[in-house]
Amino acid sequence: MHKPIHIIIVGAGAFGGWTALYLKRAGARVTLLDAWGPGNSRSSSGGETRVIRATYGPNQPYTKLAARAIELWHEHQIKWNRQFLLPLGVLWMMGGDGAYARGSVAPLQAAGVKFEEVGLKDLERRWPQINFDDVESGIYEPDSGCLLARTSAQAVVDHFIAEGGEYRQQAVDGRNLEARLSDAMRNGSESEVPLLDGSHISANRIIFACGPWMGHLFPQTIGPHFVSTRQEIFFFGAPAGETRFNAGNVPVWGDQTGHFMYGIPGNQERGFKLADDTRGPEFDPTYGDRLVSREGIENVRSYLAYRFPGMKDAPLLESRVCQYENTSDENFIIDRHPRNENIWMVGGGSGHGFKHGPALGEMVTKLVLKDDDAEAIFRLARFSGKTTSPKTTLPPTSPSSS
Ligand SMILES: Cc1cc2nc3c(=O)[nH]c(=O)nc-3n(C[C@H](O)[C@H](O)[C@H](O)COP(=O)(O)OP(=O)(O)OC[C@H]3O[C@@H](n4cnc5c(N)ncnc54)[C@H](O)[C@@H]3O)c2cc1C
Repeated sequence: MHKPIHIIIVGAGAFGGWTALYLKRAGARVTLLDAWGPGNSRSSSGGETRVIRATYGPNQPYTKLAARAIELWHEHQIKWNRQFLLPLGVLWMMGGDGAYARGSVAPLQAAGVKFEEVGLKDLERRWPQINFDDVESGIYEPDSGCLLARTSAQAVVDHFIAEGGEYRQQAVDGRNLEARLSDAMRNGSESEVPLLDGSHISANRIIFACGPWMGHLFPQTIGPHFVSTRQEIFFFGAPAGETRFNAGNVPVWGDQTGHFMYGIPGNQERGFKLADDTRGPEFDPTYGDRLVSREGIENVRSYLAYRFPGMKDAPLLESRVCQYENTSDENFIIDRHPRNENIWMVGGGSGHGFKHGPALGEMVTKLVLKDDDAEAIFRLARFSGKTTSPKTTLPPTSPSSS
C-alpha cells in the first residue's frame, strides 16, 4: 500500500493548527507539536478575541484571503456545531485623503464581501455613542466581526486529533536549530528535528509555524526581517445597565485617523476591548513580563474619553500583554528554507494573521503537497538585500493590523 507523506508541524497556533487539519484531510500523516499547547498564554493566538474584517486597502492579497477565511469559519461552525465568529459588524473609520478607503473598495467588490461606504452624516446618525471628529468616512462590513481566539485554536486541534492527527505537547530544541536543519536533509527525502527531551523526530516535510519565536529559530533566514513586539490590550467596563457599548449596539471598529487604534464591543459579558496598534518595544515571548504599563493605560484612557465619551470614566476590568510577530513589511512568510527544501516556514502574522487561519491552512496544504511556490509577496526573496527590522510605526503600504 502507498505510504502517506509524513509531515511534522511545529506550533499549534492559528497558522499551524489549521495547516495540520487541512494536511490531515488531504491524506498526509501529520504530527503536530507544541511546547505549551494551542492558544497558550504566551502564544500570539492566545486571549479572548480577534477582529475579522476584509477591508485592507489597495493591492494586497488579504481581502481575498479574509473572504475565503470567512467562508471557512462559517463552514466549520456548522460542521462542529460551535460558534467562533461573532458577526458584530466591523466599522473602519478613515481620515486623511481617503486613499485607504477608496483603495479598499475594488478588492472588497472583487472578493464578494458585503460592505457599505458610510458618509460622516450617516456615521453620526447610526452610532451616536461614537465621536466622529477627524473621521472623513467609514467602511462598514455587516457580516464581519470578531473571532473567539484561544477557544477556536483549541477546537481546531481537538478536531485535528478526532480526524486522526497526532498531537504531542513537546518542544523542538531551538538551539542552533537553523544550522542543524540546514545539514539535515537525510537521503534528500527526510529531515530530522531535535526535541528538547534529547530525542529526535523525522518526517518528509517539517513546517515551522512558531509565531513570535520564528526569528529566534531561524536567525539567518527570518531573524533580520522579523521582530516580536510587546502589545498591550485593555478591557473597560461600561456603567451599570449601559448597553450602548455592547455587541449589537456598536460594531467592532478600527480607527485609521491617526496612529491605528482598534477595539471590540463588550461581548460574552466581558469588557469593551481597546488597543493601540503602534508597535511596542521588542519582546521575548518566553520570558517577557506581561504587566501593562502606566503610560499604556493613560494613552488608551485619553483615547477612550475622546472617541467614546460615554466611556470616559470607565474602570479598567482586565488587561493583557501579547506580542505581534512582525515582518518588516507586515506581510506573512510562507516559504521553504533556502538550504533545506523539506523545511517550510509559515509565520509573520504581523498583528493581522488570526482571521486568515483556515484560508491560510488550506493554501499552505496545497503548496506543501504540490511542492509549489507561494505568491511572491509571502516569499523570503522579497527581502533580498534588505536587513531592516520592523519599525514601531507601520510603513505606509503595509496591511495594518487586527
Ligand atoms: C494583541 C494581539 C492582537 C491581535 N489582533 C488581531 C486581530 O484582531 N485580528 C487578526 O486577524 N489577528 C490579530 N492578531 C494576530 C494574530 O493573533 C497572529 O498573527 C496569529 O495568532 C499568529 O498565529 P501563529 O500560529 O503564527 O502563532 P502562535 O499562536 O504564537 O503559535 C505558535 C506556537 O508555536 C509554539 N512554539 C513556539 N516555539 C516552539 C518550539 N520550539 N517547539 C514547539 N512549539 C513551539 C508556541 O507554543 C505557539 O503555540 C493579534 C495578535 C496580538 C498579539
